[in-house]
Amino acid sequence: QAGAGSVQEIIELFAEVCATHEAELGRLDAVAGDGDHGQGMVLGTRGAVEAGNKALTRGAGARTLLVHAGTAWAEAAGGTSGALWGSALTAAGRALSDSASPDEAAGVEALLNAVEAVQRLGGAQPGDKTMVDAAAPFAQELQKQFQAGGGLAAALTSAAEAATEAAASTAQLKARLGRSRVLGEKSLGTPDPGATSFALLMTALAQRLE
Ligand code: ADP
Ligand code: MG
Ligand code: MG
Repeated sequence: QAGAGSVQEIIELFAEVCATHEAELGRLDAVAGDGDHGQGMVLGTRGAVEAGNKALTRGAGARTLLVHAGTAWAEAAGGTSGALWGSALTAAGRALSDSASPDEAAGVEALLNAVEAVQRLGGAQPGDKTMVDAAAPFAQELQKQFQAGGGLAAALTSAAEAATEAAASTAQLKARLGRSRVLGEKSLGTPDPGATSFALLMTALAQRLE
C-alpha cells in the first residue's frame, strides 16, 4: 500500500539508532532514573518493526501501519517513554491516509501530531526536563521552516538541530516529572535521556530525508 514501505523504513532506522545508542541512553537514565531508557527504546522500536512488518504483509497502508506499530512500541517497551512514543506513532498515523502516499505537508502534519500527542499524554511543560524540552522546539522550528517554503528535508534538518541543542540544554534543568523527579537534584549537569533520544531519532530522520 501507498507509503507504507517508506514508513516502515523510518521505523527500522529508529530501531538501528536506538540499538547504537542503547548503552549511552542507559547511562544517562542511570544518573537520576532507573537506567532502562536505552533498553526501553530498543525493545520498543524492535516491537514496532515487528508490528510494521506484519502490517506490511497484510497489505496495510501508512496510517494502519503506524497505528499498529505505535501500539506495539508501547507494549514492547513498557515504561513512560514507551507509552509516549507509542502514542506518538499512532497519532502520526492518524494524520496520514492508507490509500495515498504521504506528501511533504502530510509528513509535517504527522510529525506535529506526534509531538502534540506526547504533550497531551505526558502533560509535561517545557522546563520539566523531559522529552518535551526537545520535542516542543522541534515542532516549532519544523512548522516555521516548512511554512517558509524550504521543503520538508530542509525544515526537518533545522528542526533536528533545534532539538539537539534543546536536548543538550536540559542538562541545566532539574527533573520535576517522571521517575527522575525523586532524584531531581542529581540530574543537574546531565541531559534528559528522553530528550536526548528524541533528538537522535529526529537527526537520523532528517539525514535520511536529505
Ligand atoms: P521510565 O521512566 O518509565 O523508566 P524511560 O526511562 O524509558 O521510562 O524514559 C524516561 C524518559 O521519559 C525521561 O527521560 C523523559 O524524557 C520521559 N518522560 C518521563 N515523563 C514524561 C512526561 N510526563 N512527559 C514527557 N516525557 C516524559
Ligand atoms: Mg527509565
Ligand atoms: Mg523504567
